[in-house]
Amino acid sequence: MSPDFVPPVRDDLVGTASYGAPQLDVPARLNVNENPFPLPDELAAAIGAAVADAAVSLNRYPDRDFEALRAALADYLARQSGVRVPWSQVWAANGSNEVMHQLFLAFGGPGRLAITFDPTYSMYPEYARDTFTRYLTFPRLEDFTVDVPAAVDEVLALRPSIVILTSPNNPTGTSLPLADIRAIADAALRVGAVAVVDEAYAEFRHAGVPSAMTLFAQFPNLVVIRTMSKAFAMAGARLGYAAAADPRVVETLRIVRLPYHLSAVTQAVALTALEHADLLQAQVALLRAERDAMAGWLTDNGFDVAPSEANFILFGRFEDRDSVWQGLLDRGVLIRQTGPREWLRVSIGTPEENDRFRAALLEVTGRRVESGTVEEGSR
Ligand SMILES: *Cc1c(COP(=O)(O)O)cnc(C)c1O
Repeated sequence: MSPDFVPPVRDDLVGTASYGAPQLDVPARLNVNENPFPLPDELAAAIGAAVADAAVSLNRYPDRDFEALRAALADYLARQSGVRVPWSQVWAANGSNEVMHQLFLAFGGPGRLAITFDPTYSMYPEYARDTFTRYLTFPRLEDFTVDVPAAVDEVLALRPSIVILTSPNNPTGTSLPLADIRAIADAALRVGAVAVVDEAYAEFRHAGVPSAMTLFAQFPNLVVIRTMSKAFAMAGARLGYAAAADPRVVETLRIVRLPYHLSAVTQAVALTALEHADLLQAQVALLRAERDAMAGWLTDNGFDVAPSEANFILFGRFEDRDSVWQGLLDRGVLIRQTGPREWLRVSIGTPEENDRFRAALLEVTGRRVESGTVEEGSR
């Protein structure tokens, strides 16, 4: 190694650290909104067989346009949201993060603007940085909904090319009323922007909360993002996807994607998981019930709770959230310091993990009541 070599880092990256949540091996990992349950044996075995099948053909490049997988995703979306789109309006990549990155490559870029509403997902500014897209956020209201009249004015005045709405939102867990999405998508349409609705947590929403896909017929600029990382219990497989109201959006993503970006192994794994989607329904139902029970418990114990439609809960408020976070970690519970300064976010785990979290939280915050009462309130 030459002693005087300085890597020619892009000016705007100098001093930037790579970002990511801690990956610590503790008994309760409740910090990145994963599905806490291992795959059912039947599904794991089916995936093993599908990968073995795919292995024989790994000498060849994979199906570049993965039509079978897109058709299966379109079927799943039709069942899940009630809206059917042809496979040509569905796209996928290695996690919805890559789909979003491709959307920024396709519709952002130098001289262009993306806007969204804080607090929200911490990865969006990274896609903007990578693609030299200007990125602006506007604060959400006290209840974490969007100030719609202000948002409409901002979209019309600033003329972004990308507007991101996250619903259910991360880290707040709150969803946006469909009327709000409609109003902002309409403003976006008037300035020629794509309106991207990130529905990473859609499967966890309460009954009767519609997907933004129900607005496709009215808003050709809508793109809905989904992932297999959360409800599907497949964060390790890296498969995210999008449905677009206009097939030309997907055509543009095909231009910017890297060649053969979705490996044959990934395609086989995702297809097999979709064939077994019903197996995961029970897990999702349990997680939703645990989420609602956890929200009730936190409220009963005097915490502030943001109403969650996701598999995590933002709760507070703490003068020193870092010490609460550390206290929980000392008791084997890893959660997340994210969002507004006085709040913490906990992912819904298995019932055992959730119990451990509740007991630890009472201890750390000095709210421990006689153990009998705690047990009663915690289930
Ligand atoms: C977890 C999450 C995703 C998922 O990212 P993947 O790359 O699909 O794992 C996307 N959007 C939001 C808001 C998330 O919280």
